[in-house]
Amino acid sequence: MSGFFDTPVEFLKGVGPQRSALLNKELNIFTFGDLIQYYPFRYEDRTKFYTIQEINDEMPHVQVKGMIIKKELIGAGARKRLAAIFKDATGEMELVWFQGIKWAQEKLQPGVEYVVFGRPNRFGKKFSIAHPEIEPVTTANTSHGYLQPVYPLTEKLKSRYIDSKAISKLLRELLVLAKDKIRETLPVSMINQFRMIGKQQALINIHFPQSHDLMAAAQHRLKFEELFYIQLRLLKMKLIRQDSFRGQVFNDAALLTKFYNEFLPFPLTDAQKKVIKEIYADLKSGKQMNRLLQGDVGSGKTIVAFVCALISIGGGAQCALMAPTEILAQQHFNNLSKYASLMKIPIALLTGSTKKSERKQIHEALQSGVLKILIGTHALLEEEVKFQNLGLAIIDEQHRFGVAQRSKLWNKNAGLYPHVLVMTATPIPRTLAMTLYGDLDISVIDQLPAGRKPIKTIHKYDSHRLQVNQFLKEQIATGRQVYIVYPLIEESEKLDLKHLMDGYESISRAFPDEAISIVHGQMKPDAKDYEMKRFLKRETSIMVATTVIEVGVDVPNASVMVIENAERFGLSQLHQLRGRVGRGAEQSFCILMTSFKLSADSKIRIDTMVRTNNGFEISETDLKLRGPGDLMGTQQSGALDLMIADLGKDGKILQAARETAIRLLEDDPELKKPENTVILNQVERTKKSAVNWSKIS
Ligand code: ADP
Ligand code: MG
Repeated sequence: MSGFFDTPVEFLKGVGPQRSALLNKELNIFTFGDLIQYYPFRYEDRTKFYTIQEINDEMPHVQVKGMIIKKELIGAGARKRLAAIFKDATGEMELVWFQGIKWAQEKLQPGVEYVVFGRPNRFGKKFSIAHPEIEPVTTANTSHGYLQPVYPLTEKLKSRYIDSKAISKLLRELLVLAKDKIRETLPVSMINQFRMIGKQQALINIHFPQSHDLMAAAQHRLKFEELFYIQLRLLKMKLIRQDSFRGQVFNDAALLTKFYNEFLPFPLTDAQKKVIKEIYADLKSGKQMNRLLQGDVGSGKTIVAFVCALISIGGGAQCALMAPTEILAQQHFNNLSKYASLMKIPIALLTGSTKKSERKQIHEALQSGVLKILIGTHALLEEEVKFQNLGLAIIDEQHRFGVAQRSKLWNKNAGLYPHVLVMTATPIPRTLAMTLYGDLDISVIDQLPAGRKPIKTIHKYDSHRLQVNQFLKEQIATGRQVYIVYPLIEESEKLDLKHLMDGYESISRAFPDEAISIVHGQMKPDAKDYEMKRFLKRETSIMVATTVIEVGVDVPNASVMVIENAERFGLSQLHQLRGRVGRGAEQSFCILMTSFKLSADSKIRIDTMVRTNNGFEISETDLKLRGPGDLMGTQQSGALDLMIADLGKDGKILQAARETAIRLLEDDPELKKPENTVILNQVERTKKSAVNWSKIS
């Protein structure tokens, strides 16, 4: 495929140096191959023609056949426009141009029949279309099954007249040249098994669908192919690692047994036990572990992390835990310190704000091997941080670290790679996990500790505030504590702070007898800490805060979470916040406050929260609403730059692609069989060219 498809796009008829520069810069299209793989994201159905009489306000676009009966220049200077009366058998409408007037004047002739497409606007009784697409009637644009591809384009391109039609035109040019050079990239057996169409058919029909069916078949084929090769690559990486990366063997359970017998604060849930077993099996296997631990908020990941640390320390090694924020690192440190001090195991915290002198001590204790557990932020990745023997790296990731950072931790050990355990608090939909973490083994804590009552979630409008306050008073009277959370969004930080302060004042007025804490991102760490401690010690009964508490605190006695402007939060974030309550034995509540006006998406988010406590269900919905690119922090991950597949919608195809890749590698791990040559070739080609791959590995 190389030669021809590597031709710079500049050399395609109709492109040239200027347009090619634009295509390079705006769309990353450099070669013929890039252009042919630039797929439409939707199609406009041009199969239907309306009469002018049928047009109504609801229609986003209409396609009409008719003739121009009059053209007229109106106004002058910047307000100059060309208006044409357009007529069919049922009535008249107006077509207007503010730009390209000269072109329209010359090109559009009375008495010629045109096809017009555009967005109708009503002016009085008449409809008008500004800057319509217009071309003379031909068999091509009026025949059946005409689907106009719509390509993702930038404003800059559109301002230079590179619109979907223009891209279409280039592709028509290109496909004439390319058609016979397109090679099949999947084995025939696979194509037959899933009743797919061939690569050539798929590429033609993705750009110029001959029917709805062929369009769907082309999409399916190209999505499958894309996902199949991603999965193949991830699974191959996993195989290579399992085969060739040895890990330290940790099979001494003495520390673990001591902890279980003497200090275990509560019986572990079956899910926690199962996960610890899976991890222990990895740690003694002699192979390097790469495992993802998923568990909903409150499922008890912390103690699992500690038990794993004990296993590695029992084997004479050290353990590091890296968290995405200082608050979270601090929280882990506080929690693990409790267990570590019982076991008399040295533990330390290292973040950006650790003092220099303390830092030096930590560095020394690490290198001498005295320090056994180090917790911190990405400060752990710094050059000076050297372990005597790092045996286990735990990464609490919340989607925030990229694969690149993950692998940096690996290199922290001079000898064998450390075992790696990635923990995520936000459950990730299967489809996303398979792609983001497709190279890892996965463990799931799918059960909450016993005795927890499911949190009751309620939606209230701002107008019910008095009623809500009354409810809070009753809860506080029974000894419970309450969180009231305000949104904080970076672009409007100042405004949000004001919002929070106003809220704090009105809460103070509504609860004159209560001590109230306040915590927000612009406070000094000491002040924040002080307030949180007051709340924890029950000296205050209400905590007013921004989302800093999303990851920050564990107060089992707090049983009510009020979220102000809940419509401004994403689903995963709402779920994380709700996870701050429901940690004790009492019935907990989450109250979502919103204004009356809710967008369709906000409504789905609120309804989902009210309906379910299941983190997986929530993240599935979140993925569907926002698409994978917008999910918490996944942006950095190049793994999601897909050309055509959509992880939110294509779960079934992904599943099939992954299973196919698994079977293939079981049958022919080196892709040596003749029938798999086509796959091997494609893997080699993508290794050389595709950006996606380099970002994943
Ligand atoms: P997360 O998975 O969100 O990190 P944590 O580890 O913070 O959850 O645990 C949430 C709370 O549940 C903590 O207060 C913890 O002590 C408690 N917990 C964890 N496991 C159990 C268990 N098996 N039984 C009772 N309480 C538990
Ligand atoms: Mg946690």
